[in-house]
Amino acid sequence: MNGEKSCLIEQFGEFETGSGLFYRYASLPNVGDRIQGHRHNFPHDTIVLRGRAHVIGRYADGSLAFEVDVVPGEVFPIDAEIEHEFVVTEAPYAHYCAYASRLPSGKVAGRATGWAPQGY
Ligand SMILES: [Zn+2]
Repeated sequence: MNGEKSCLIEQFGEFETGSGLFYRYASLPNVGDRIQGHRHNFPHDTIVLRGRAHVIGRYADGSLAFEVDVVPGEVFPIDAEIEHEFVVTEAPYAHYCAYASRLPSGKVAGRATGWAPQGY
């Protein structure tokens, strides 16, 4: 295993609890690090663990949906189909994104399925 790959595993991990929820972990060590803008066909809650980040959300037409600064302890919901980008303003930064377990169709499973949609 090369160092780069193990670093990625430490920075971005994912697990399913058996409660019907998935948690994705992201850790960004430096101010200015970012999670590029992306969107999902499902909503998720971002739970900030440490550090601070500036989060910009946009509708499909590119107009601004929200622009906020998130802080440790905050639970920040992001709706489905809203493109969102994180930029670290206080490092180190870490968060979990929590969302319902899905079926491959994208529908909520209501139970652990082991299947996770792509993306952060
Ligand atoms: Zn996301």
